Amino acid sequence: MIYVIGSGFSGLTTAYALYLRGIKSTVISPSEKFKKNNINLFNYLLKNNNEFYYNSSSLKKEILKINNTKLLNCKYFLSHSDGGQSNFWGGVVGNSYNYESKNSKIRKSSFFVLKKKYNLLLNLIGLPKIDREKIEKKNYINTRNYFVKKKNVSSLKKFLIKKKISFISNIYVKKIDFINNNLISYNLKNKEMINLSYNKVFISCGPVETAKLLINSISKLNRVTLKETRHFYCFLKIKKNLSSRFLDINLKKYKFYCQIYSNKDALSILYKKISQKTKKELKKGYYFAQCYLDEKFSGKITINKNKNKFIIIGKENKNFKIDEFRKYIKKFNKKNQKILIKKFYFNQIGASNHLGCSFPIINNSNKINSVNTFGKLNKQKNIYLSDSSVLNSIDTSPLTSFSIFNLLRMVLHNKDIK
Ligand SMILES: Cc1cc2nc3c(=O)[nH]c(=O)nc-3n(C[C@H](O)[C@H](O)[C@H](O)COP(=O)(O)OP(=O)(O)OC[C@H]3O[C@@H](n4cnc5c(N)ncnc54)[C@H](O)[C@@H]3O)c2cc1C
Repeated sequence: MIYVIGSGFSGLTTAYALYLRGIKSTVISPSEKFKKNNINLFNYLLKNNNEFYYNSSSLKKEILKINNTKLLNCKYFLSHSDGGQSNFWGGVVGNSYNYESKNSKIRKSSFFVLKKKYNLLLNLIGLPKIDREKIEKKNYINTRNYFVKKKNVSSLKKFLIKKKISFISNIYVKKIDFINNNLISYNLKNKEMINLSYNKVFISCGPVETAKLLINSISKLNRVTLKETRHFYCFLKIKKNLSSRFLDINLKKYKFYCQIYSNKDALSILYKKISQKTKKELKKGYYFAQCYLDEKFSGKITINKNKNKFIIIGKENKNFKIDEFRKYIKKFNKKNQKILIKKFYFNQIGASNHLGCSFPIINNSNKINSVNTFGKLNKQKNIYLSDSSVLNSIDTSPLTSFSIFNLLRMVLHNKDIK
């Protein structure tokens, strides 16, 4: 039996790529229901040390019993509903072709040959196809041609069901028994343990849950470190028309990606939370934006297990100097003609939801926390990681479309999968 653990973008992309190879997999999910949710972003931005499960409080309680977890100095989203975070993602589709991959072991050309298959997959999900976009890198501000379409993976799931791909729900995998090739799992409905015998496993739990599963399974692995694109939000004034609300801002040392919201959106997001003064500023033409700093200033999230408890800790990047950054912003405000950044606020580690790089690609390595070019976990047999854990870098722009392109590549180019 070939199992894919997780039913979000990564899990269903993996099942789809396996189907293209003529392989029928079984997708495991803790819940049987998609649960669409519009999150009040600002409530989330203001919350500290938290972790969300969007199914039900009873499911959350059960899963925390299985993997007792405490968070320090970080926050992030988790969803255990069918479809995972696709139920509440922002729907901003980045351009995979321009995704920064200078640290990657994979040549970009190995993605481009799959362009047709990639666009077919986007079409199945309900997202428009993506073409290469030319971007200038010399300017202070470069606009990006991204699009927004809030689709979850339900139509891809329907397609896979038609193609006889199996789905099993109410199952949470606690541990992989590598000796007996078993997935030691809990049935969340009848609260009983169940062992699922496997030939191959693709782990698509999202980087945090993938790390927990592997720490539970590999005795020598007691810590996994994720990278996180540092997130801040700001108020800015638009002085001259911009052709897009998606911008790359280049302050030499400090580059960042900026996603601007309309006044109406910002007011509805922020309404109850902000001061009268800020409300007035927004009405005067100040905009709200989410920004993501260059990966060289990424924060870190370490996932440790101590006795029976996971302790998840966010750590700032020491190279980032807020005073220096402030000076760059001041200079930027003086020199550029288009926008004025009025105020900015750094969020907690994890809040960007651009997470991964925890099991990077290092071919033929003895490192237990690395994978080969195709996502196969080094030092283990028949275990593949297939989510953003395997990316070698996390760019500033939205990561999901690039990550699923990479998963297509990993499954479709792997000659060992039969
Ligand atoms: C608020 C928010 C806004 C976002 N906006 C954007 C955006 O605009 N653009 C963009 O590109 N990206 C965005 N993202 C990121 C995007 O949502 C994620 O990159 C993507 O959904 C990750 O998909 P995934 O399948 O890897 O993980 P998930 O969606 O987390 O799916 C993991 C699945 O695995 C299951 N699972 C986990 N552990 C186990 C286990 N032990 N056993 C069985 N099953 C398990 C979970 O239940 C879940 O179904 C956003 C994220 C958030 C939170």
